[in-house]
Amino acid sequence: MEYLKRTTTCGALRAADVGQTVVLNGWVHRRRDHGGITFVNLRDRYGVTQVVVDDDASDAIKAAAAELKYEYCVAVKGFVRARPASMVNPDMDTGAIEVKAESIQVLTRCEVLPFMVDETSDAKEELRLKYRYLDLRSGRMQRHIRLRHEVAFAVREHLSGQGFYEIETPTFIRSTPEGARDYLVPSRLYPGKFYALPQSPQLYKQLLMVSGMDKYFQLARCYRDEDARGDRQPEFTQIDIEMSFVKRDDVLELVEGMMGHVFRKTLGHELPARFTRLAFDESIELYGTDKPDLRFDMRMKDFGAVASKSGFQAFKDALADGEARRAAAAAKGITQEGGAVKALVVPGKADYSRKQIEELEAAAKVYRAKGMAWMKVSAEGHLEGGASKFFVDIEKETLDFLGAKQGDLVLMVADAKKRVACQSLGAVRSKLGKDLGLCDPAKFEFAWIVDFPMFEYNEDESKWDTAHHMFTMPQERYHPTLESDPGAVKGDLYDLVMNGFEIASGSIRIHDPELQKRIFKIVGFSEEEGQRKFGFLTEAFKYGPPPHGGIAPGLDRLVMLMAGETSIKEVIAFPKNSFAVSPMDESPNEVDAKQLEELSISIVEAPDGSKKVEIKR
Ligand code: ASP
Repeated sequence: MEYLKRTTTCGALRAADVGQTVVLNGWVHRRRDHGGITFVNLRDRYGVTQVVVDDDASDAIKAAAAELKYEYCVAVKGFVRARPASMVNPDMDTGAIEVKAESIQVLTRCEVLPFMVDETSDAKEELRLKYRYLDLRSGRMQRHIRLRHEVAFAVREHLSGQGFYEIETPTFIRSTPEGARDYLVPSRLYPGKFYALPQSPQLYKQLLMVSGMDKYFQLARCYRDEDARGDRQPEFTQIDIEMSFVKRDDVLELVEGMMGHVFRKTLGHELPARFTRLAFDESIELYGTDKPDLRFDMRMKDFGAVASKSGFQAFKDALADGEARRAAAAAKGITQEGGAVKALVVPGKADYSRKQIEELEAAAKVYRAKGMAWMKVSAEGHLEGGASKFFVDIEKETLDFLGAKQGDLVLMVADAKKRVACQSLGAVRSKLGKDLGLCDPAKFEFAWIVDFPMFEYNEDESKWDTAHHMFTMPQERYHPTLESDPGAVKGDLYDLVMNGFEIASGSIRIHDPELQKRIFKIVGFSEEEGQRKFGFLTEAFKYGPPPHGGIAPGLDRLVMLMAGETSIKEVIAFPKNSFAVSPMDESPNEVDAKQLEELSISIVEAPDGSKKVEIKR
């Protein structure tokens, strides 16, 4: 039998439609029997409409209604009528009307559900992922997928309006080092050879600048084979952007405009025209992180100058050890930070218990702090408890410097490495933000972090690595001292942070092949290695590359924060679980022997049961 095709959706009918005959297609969301009357809520992507089977309905309709179960896919033909005044539901878009069923067709049945398709479903994540197609029927997931679409659309709209071309770059590329591990795809035609899936389109977007494309963007899938940790996905999406003949501020302004457009169009939220700009060093000093959550203030103070006058020996030792390290490095012409005592005033929390303070200390220790000192300001305005006895002689100076008042709690971390003191107390600040409910999910606080160090010292391998990627331009004033003092070099790179998350990073790129060679050398890449791994880029740079730069905001994380969620899985239609596995299609999976044969691959099982892949050449 032909099915009754819908004439409208389940979200469309209003009081003005009363009197019409309509056909609805959708899923049975709810069914309630009230004596002789049955109410069926029919749901589709657009909304929910109440269908009524009256007492006076034909036996055939009553029998059809009696058969309906959760999530049956059905067609209902009926008459739109106004609900009695007492039954009008202002919480439902279609709450003014109901559809009196004249015929009901079951299109497909639904087996017993693994969980209820509902906003409040508290099914375990593994089950939600196994039956993701059902999970996606829920109102919450429908909203997230819609938001994601709207964000992507607004991005395209804005960038196209600014003269950008959307250009696809290949998914099968040459394996090039970019920080993480590559996913590899074996080549059937060339046994023993592999394509890599791109960790990002970085090199290709730079090549597009050499091609004169001037302004490029792409909603690019990126693949990184990293250990399952935190909220990572093996594949994710970046709003990848590259522009020619630009300086840093051109890129920042473009992204400010794009974010403004996206937030206005999708959430009706007005962002400031310009975001705060914070130097990396300043961000570490004040917030102990390069991803500060600026929804709350609570800045750290550099307490060393005052603390050194106190009687606290541990603080003095940390400062002295730090100074010795700094001076020894300086004697070799190397810039290195000394020690620091960082302090944080927590307003009104002098009533924190020892246990609460210990929990904060544990957060500090994760970042290698040896401990966290504390003291309180009494109702009389005196320092008391914890380390206060060391500050008796300089109480007024301490209180004035910190701006601490009656009832405040003062937390302090000292270390011979300034970075350790900052990061440790910064972790305490972040924890306090959460504990004290200062992170309002309806607030969006953006900031640019600029002037990042260009290189990071790799203690394990005793060598310098680039902090971002190898194509980042070192700031001009450091060009003469790149080799002699890499630790002091600032890169022309920038991160966009929002609510404590990094949501984009990018840089002005090197376009001078000679400068590129110097960077390869500093990070210990031989010329041959550079040639072998990035030869095609260096080759292209022989043919008049333009000055260029770009950035790549993460689409998943952006949408996650806009949706008020805490995991990117909530805004990806078909994510992997935390172990890089899809419980739904059970990938990664074993494949047919024939497929392996064609790829000249064999799987060898060791006596201990572990498996190894061998490529026959
Ligand atoms: N490709 C870089 C990344 O994935 C972003 C950029 O520099 O544009 O982090």
